[in-house]
Amino acid sequence: LEKKNKSLEQFAAVVSHDLKAPLRHISVFADMIVEETANGNLADVALYAQQVRSSAQRMDRVIRRLLEYSQIAYRIAAFSRVNLADIAIQAIQNLESQIEEARAELLLSKLPTIEGDPDLLRHLLQNLIANAVKYRRKGTVPRIRMYATDKGSMVNLIVEDNGIGIDPKYADRIFTAFLRLHADDKVYEGFGVGLALCKQIVESHRGIIELDTNYRGGARFVVRLPQNLNR
Ligand code: ADP
Repeated sequence: LEKKNKSLEQFAAVVSHDLKAPLRHISVFADMIVEETANGNLADVALYAQQVRSSAQRMDRVIRRLLEYSQIAYRIAAFSRVNLADIAIQAIQNLESQIEEARAELLLSKLPTIEGDPDLLRHLLQNLIANAVKYRRKGTVPRIRMYATDKGSMVNLIVEDNGIGIDPKYADRIFTAFLRLHADDKVYEGFGVGLALCKQIVESHRGIIELDTNYRGGARFVVRLPQNLNR
């Protein structure tokens, strides 16, 4: 309950911050449009209107992410046998435009079949791949590898990139909802819920997700999932 309350508090803080800022922006620029139009000064009106539009678009993205978060965070998992390779391919297809835009190269090794919720697992992989593409290093071809290793009854699923990497001191922090390391939205737009959702999904599968703090070539996430849930 404490955890839920905390996350609700953070949720409210983010809604008020991430939605209020663009709303204020819209209001200020709308006032300027009214004023300039009344004075017959039309030179900058189109520019102000563009500001209004981009803030409205930002709000739209925030609302979508919020809805996605609440839909996934409170969803009840429906388990079946899931081939992780199929799930990975679906995740990649859903991210086609971002992958193409970044000219990212993806290497997908053979992945096993496990017991899990296909929609939640697709979201998990999609978030990890989307981050690997987003946090790429400028001037370097983004290379993302996905592979698995068997560890007895567990599967280690690894998503690895050659991007900007994550300081090991933030290894836990990054999984907290609504916390971001990149506050500047202009460089890496985000909302700080992707990894928190990944953690919730993995934990609903009785697994663990970690940042490999020994990896230096970029970021490497290790997801440890049971092959069978033995319910
Ligand atoms: P968002 O990307 O919306 O900020 P996430 O919860 O997905 O939120 O990630 C939290 C933080 O972890 C990000 O702000 C970013 O700083 C860092 N991060 C996540 N994935 C990667 C990655 N593959 N490479 C570098 N940094 C990452």
